[in-house]
Amino acid sequence: GAAGAALTELPEADRETGLLVVGGGPGGYAAAFRAADLGLEVTLVERRSRLGGVCLNVGCIPSKALLHAAALLDQAASFADHGIRFGRPRIDLEQLAAWKEDVVARLTRGLAQMAERRGVRVLQGEATFEHPHRVRVRNDEGERTVAFHQAIVAAGSRPLLLENMPADDPRLWTSDDALRLATLPRRLLVIGGGVIGLEMAQVYAALGSRVTVVELTDGLLPGVDRDLVRPLQKRLQLRLEAIATSTRVSSVQPLKRALRVTTVGPEGDRRGEYDAVLVAVGRRPNGDRLGLAEIGVHVDARGFVQVDPQRRTSLPHLFAIGDLAGPPMLAHKATHEGKVAAEVAAGLPSRYEPRCVPAIAYTDPEVAWVGLTEEEARRQQIRYERGTVPWAASGRALGMDRPEGMTKALFEPDSRRLLGVGIVGAHAGDLISEAALAIEMGADAADLALTVHPHPTLSETLALAAELVEGTATDLLPPGSRRRKP
Ligand code: FAD
Repeated sequence: GAAGAALTELPEADRETGLLVVGGGPGGYAAAFRAADLGLEVTLVERRSRLGGVCLNVGCIPSKALLHAAALLDQAASFADHGIRFGRPRIDLEQLAAWKEDVVARLTRGLAQMAERRGVRVLQGEATFEHPHRVRVRNDEGERTVAFHQAIVAAGSRPLLLENMPADDPRLWTSDDALRLATLPRRLLVIGGGVIGLEMAQVYAALGSRVTVVELTDGLLPGVDRDLVRPLQKRLQLRLEAIATSTRVSSVQPLKRALRVTTVGPEGDRRGEYDAVLVAVGRRPNGDRLGLAEIGVHVDARGFVQVDPQRRTSLPHLFAIGDLAGPPMLAHKATHEGKVAAEVAAGLPSRYEPRCVPAIAYTDPEVAWVGLTEEEARRQQIRYERGTVPWAASGRALGMDRPEGMTKALFEPDSRRLLGVGIVGAHAGDLISEAALAIEMGADAADLALTVHPHPTLSETLALAAELVEGTATDLLPPGSRRRKP
């Protein structure tokens, strides 16, 4: 516990602190702030000059700002067939990038202010563990050591790169480069059809690049329910130059005028030239870069730090959270873990044991899922009842000209407890929270069906999915129903 930890004699160091937090992302700053609010004396070490981690600086926030801009462009264009025509948009890339930067700056400034108000000491520099109770922090000005009673490691992850790629070619991008919005490539190749790859493809296609996506597996968004991916894939096919699945990039060759990329797919070898290539093939946890294994912390082969439900590592006074502590690599998961670790460090009996963690692709249409997916259910032979609502039955979706969506809910057969929900369609990401709450609360189909949902909204589709399973739906025919004589 905290009291016991506070009694340990600390090694020699330039400074001492009660709780050291390494990494100022959504995991680390949540942990630091919660711990400070619980009365711990906290030092936060962050390598970047700003707090917020990947999420605020080069992840969730800037990508969603740019996706908003992309949606605006697409929506304006989409009503040409319904009587509203705008002129061709004129895009000022510099101004757009400055706006996105301003969004990020406002948030990170807010974090710095909150840290100060809470009395969290922030040190800029890169921390390396050199003793179970001491880190060395290096920055441009030099280095110093900090001894601590307890520590929470929230050092996040970094983009995975592919082998055999030209080194230091500015046309070869990670998501960090894509989000900078420094240039608009005429032809962009995105390697990786996962969430990050597709979000960036969507942004650049809307801004006017001709975008090709290459994906190694046989479909976009690997692991996600195919019924949910289908409407997205259909729409993306209209927006993108090409989507090549079951295709591997075998070489990227830097030419003067372009990057020449060779791919191997079902149709054999293909060659293409691109002005930029974005590598979005996944992320690797930073668990291997902090000297953790050397002080006795268990780090697995993939670089994830092993943790228990209280987020303690194999050294009980050291906690790990966020991307570095295992999948899913999502900001909201990091934040929840950060609070648990802070509370445990302060001596509270917290545990990280959510029933579900929602995930969202902020593409157009959005894809969101939470809890059990149909693919998982099939793979693990879990029995379920299913309510599927095509959005063509939703007046609101039709009124938005977005009938391609779908809401799918899975229930436990006898109890009809909600097990999982998948949604594809406009605003799916905002709709999924109701499903997450329902699963956390152990809600069943009757709870969802009897909760009065406002009309006309997209949220009604979840209630309708439950009504289908309950047999009380009137807005759709019950499944398997035959025509009766009036
Ligand atoms: P991070 O945010 O990675 O923060 C770790 C921090 O630790 C960094 O600031 C790093 O500089 C610092 N650090 C690392 N090593 C050291 C060291 N030795 N010393 C000091 N500091 C160190 N997730 C979502 O939930 N929703 C989204 O929409 C979403 N969009 C994304 C879009 C993109 C393009 C990317 C790349 C990611 C996205 N993510 C999204 C994932 C999300 O950003 C991460 O899951 C989240 O940031 C993880 O938080 P974290 O606190 O674990 O680590």
